[in-house]
Amino acid sequence: MIKPSLLDYTQKELLTLIKPNFRVKQIFGWLYHNYANNFDDMKNIPKSLKEELAKAYVVNPMKIINKEESIDGTIKYLFELQDGKTIEAVWLKMKDTQFDDNGEVTQEAKYTICVSTQVGCKVGCSFCLTAKGGFTRDLSAGEIVAQVVSLKRDNNHKHNRKINIVYMGMGEPLDNLNNLAKAIEIFKEEEGLAIGGKRQTVSTSGLSNKIDQLGAMDLGVHIAISLHAVDDKLRTELIPMNKAHNINSIIEAVKRFPIDTRKRVMFEYLVIKDKNDDITSAKKLVKLLHGIKAKVNLIFFNPYPDTQYSRPELKDMVNFQEYLIKHGLLCTIRDSKGIDISAACGQLREKDKLDKTQKEMF
Ligand code: SAH
Ligand code: SF4
Repeated sequence: MIKPSLLDYTQKELLTLIKPNFRVKQIFGWLYHNYANNFDDMKNIPKSLKEELAKAYVVNPMKIINKEESIDGTIKYLFELQDGKTIEAVWLKMKDTQFDDNGEVTQEAKYTICVSTQVGCKVGCSFCLTAKGGFTRDLSAGEIVAQVVSLKRDNNHKHNRKINIVYMGMGEPLDNLNNLAKAIEIFKEEEGLAIGGKRQTVSTSGLSNKIDQLGAMDLGVHIAISLHAVDDKLRTELIPMNKAHNINSIIEAVKRFPIDTRKRVMFEYLVIKDKNDDITSAKKLVKLLHGIKAKVNLIFFNPYPDTQYSRPELKDMVNFQEYLIKHGLLCTIRDSKGIDISAACGQLREKDKLDKTQKEMF
C-alpha cells in the first residue's frame, strides 16, 4: 500500500497530525538529525504511537537500489519509490577537505546534492536522456526531501554540516511547483536540515509564467535557466516548449525575479558541436544577457547511444568562454563531475534498465 511519508510535512503540519506536541519535536529530530529510515529507528518514541503512525505513514518513502561512485568523489544514486518507479540523485564533492601544516582540518569538504523532481519529464528536450522515457508522474514533497536525507545518511554527513541543493536531476522542477515549494520549505526548517533558500538553486528549462509564480512565493531561492541557445529556432529544436515560452519571455521573467542583490542568475548553456559552439552565438549571448547580473555555465554535451548530437571540442568551449569573459560576463565551464560514471541526468536509470535487460537475456 502506498502511504504518505512523514517527510511530506512541515513541522507545523506534523503538530496538527501527531499529539502530544513534544513528540513531534522528537520525531523531527529522528527524521532530520538522525535520518531515520523507519519507525524502528526512533528509539525514544513509544511503541503504541509508532504503531499508530505506521498505519497511516511511512518514514522514508524510498530505498537506494544502485550506487555508482566516481574517482572524483561524485556518487550517483538510483532510488526505488513505493510504486516501483525509479529516480536518480547525485552527491557531488565540490571542494576537498583542507588541512594546515599540522594536518589539522581547516575546512571541511563541501558537497552539493542534485535532486530529481519528477519521474521522467514532459518537456521533451531532444538532447536529454530523461526525456526519452516520457513523463510518468510528479514526485511528492517527501520524495524530494527523502533524496537529501538518504544521501546525507549514506555519507554520514552530520545534520548541521551545510550542504547545497540543486534541482537539476530528472524532471522539470517548475512543472511540479507546489511540491517543489513545499520541499524547499521543509529543507529550510530551522529544527530540521536548516538549508536556507540561498543554498538552493532551482534549474528550469524556462517556463516563464512559472518563474513568475516561483518569484511571487518569495522563498529566497536562486534560479538557473537552461538557455542552451540564443535564437528561438534552435532553442525550439532543443527544447520544444520554447514555442510557448520563447527566449524573450524567459529573459523578461528573469528580470522580474526577486534576486539577492549580491547574487547572479545562472544561465546554463549546453554546448553541442556544430550547433551552438560558434563565436556568433557567443556574441548573441552577450547581447541577450545585457543588463542582467548573470553568470554563464558552459556544459559539455554528454553523448549517449543513438543521440544525434556530439560533444563539443575543448578548444571551441574555451574560445566561447574567453569571448564571454572578454565582454564582461562571468563564465565557467562545468567540470564534468562523474564523467567515468553515468554523468548527465537520466543516464544511470537508463543504464540500470540496460543492465536488467542484459541480465534477462542471459
Ligand atoms: N529540467 C530542468 C532541470 C533538470 S535537467 C532543466 O532542464 O533545467 C538537468 C541539467 O542536465 C540541465 O541543465 C540539462 O541541460 C542537463 N542535461 C540534460 N541532458 C544532458 C546531456 N546529454 N549532457 C549534458 N547535460 C545534459
Ligand atoms: Fe526535462 Fe530538463 Fe531533460 Fe529538458 S533537460 S527533458 S526540461 S529534465
